[in-house]
Amino acid sequence: MIHIPRPRTQSLRVRLVLWYGVLVAAALALFVLLTLSWVTDALYQNTESAVHTEAQAAVSEVSDELLAVPPYWPDRLSLRSLNTYRAPGIEVEVIDWQGKTHVDSDGNPNTHLPTNPPLLQEVYTGHSVAYRDQFDGEPVQVEATAIRAGPAANKTVIGVLLVAKSLREINTTLELLRTLLFLTGCAVLVGSLLGSWSITDRLLQPLTEMAQTAQSIAATTARGTRIGNLSSRVRRPDGDDEIAKVVDALNGMLADLEKATQSQRRFVADASHELRAPLTTIQGNLAFLQRYGDEIPAAERSTTLHDAYDETLRLTRLVEELLLLARADAHIDTQPTLREHCQHLIELDYVVLQLVRQLHGRLRCEASMPKLEIGLIEPVRIYGDEETIRRILLALLDNALKYTAQSGPSTEQGRVLVSLERREKQALLQVSDTGMGIAEDELPHIFERFYRADRARSRQGTGLGLSIVSLQVEQLGGRITAESTPGQGSTFNVWLPLVW
Ligand code: ADP
Repeated sequence: MIHIPRPRTQSLRVRLVLWYGVLVAAALALFVLLTLSWVTDALYQNTESAVHTEAQAAVSEVSDELLAVPPYWPDRLSLRSLNTYRAPGIEVEVIDWQGKTHVDSDGNPNTHLPTNPPLLQEVYTGHSVAYRDQFDGEPVQVEATAIRAGPAANKTVIGVLLVAKSLREINTTLELLRTLLFLTGCAVLVGSLLGSWSITDRLLQPLTEMAQTAQSIAATTARGTRIGNLSSRVRRPDGDDEIAKVVDALNGMLADLEKATQSQRRFVADASHELRAPLTTIQGNLAFLQRYGDEIPAAERSTTLHDAYDETLRLTRLVEELLLLARADAHIDTQPTLREHCQHLIELDYVVLQLVRQLHGRLRCEASMPKLEIGLIEPVRIYGDEETIRRILLALLDNALKYTAQSGPSTEQGRVLVSLERREKQALLQVSDTGMGIAEDELPHIFERFYRADRARSRQGTGLGLSIVSLQVEQLGGRITAESTPGQGSTFNVWLPLVW
């Protein structure tokens, strides 16, 4: 196993480049080794076969020149044609068993081609032997072949013919090839390391930017009391690869967090503002009473007190709604849906009818109030919490009645209609009214916290009702939508998952 020393910096880039370098180096080494061994084999085999051909030619020429009777050796072997056509760099020697040299092509009696007794012994048995050795300080390829003489049926080995070829050129070529391969390998390795460094640099750049963005947000978040600058985004790399997807996910998360933080800040600011208004009135009225209580007429005193009391009611309602919202928020965060949490089976049609009947009783006394009607009510069962459902319906009916209550010169009594049916495999609870309706540009905002349409300002309300309803519907695993035509009325649709 290849062991790479762990770099001191834990940089992913360094590790990737190192691993890549190791792989490229291993591939290159394998390539160099295979090429070298293949070329070396091919060159040596070439030389070996050249020497063999030369040895065969020489043996046949020697046999032609031998005498027909023992000792068979002529006074002088001329080997004319061999000497004439011999390939350059070929050395030939003919030695008999007495050690006498009959041919020595280099003409130097002091230098002899390398042999040894075991080898000669093998040649004596009639085999040809090819081997590599040193001659005159040079590497040579040698072939030793037996020289036979005598009658055809009983030829005996009378000597040995040695043919050698220098391997210097081949070795030089191989040396050159080795150097060339080594240098090329080094260049390729360095090139690929540089290339991989720049590629990993480009690939990992978004990761670096992500880390920097996260660090900058962490650095600007002072001791957990304030969330830092969430508006920074990581540059998206080209393409649609995994890193681009991670960058998209992070940027999306930052955008959502930014939106959530902004709406939270807005909520806190709105809540403080809404709480301050009744408090100011209460404070002012009480201060006025404290100072001038004895001097002012009893009727004025009573009105001032009454106003203060009304404001405490408004304040209580506001605080209750804020508390409800905070609880619902916590609920949504900690539990996916109430439906999964509390598996109470509820007969929704029964709950709706019961609540509408209760309201009917109260409304009958007030002539100015709209007519509350019950439309189609199908039997519907859902999982949930009865109290939550009653609150949702009550809030929607409260709004419908409030924004449909007779106002102005029109004498026509408004209508509020409640219906419940199964639609698209869901329960659909509808509260429609023939009230003032909601302007098209205001409709998308009505579920936002503290949002109140201008036309609603004159009526009582905090702007929290629908945001609480929408959270509670979410708790039940459902959703709420609204449709409206200004001047004609609105319809609120609560979609809830059916049990069956
Ligand atoms: P509010 O306490 O002001 O009623 P809500 O959150 O319940 O607050 O409603 C938000 C706004 O949506 C209201 O101020 C009003 O403009 C509008 N709205 C809600 N229900 C109706 C309705 N039935 N008809 C007309 N406008 C409505």
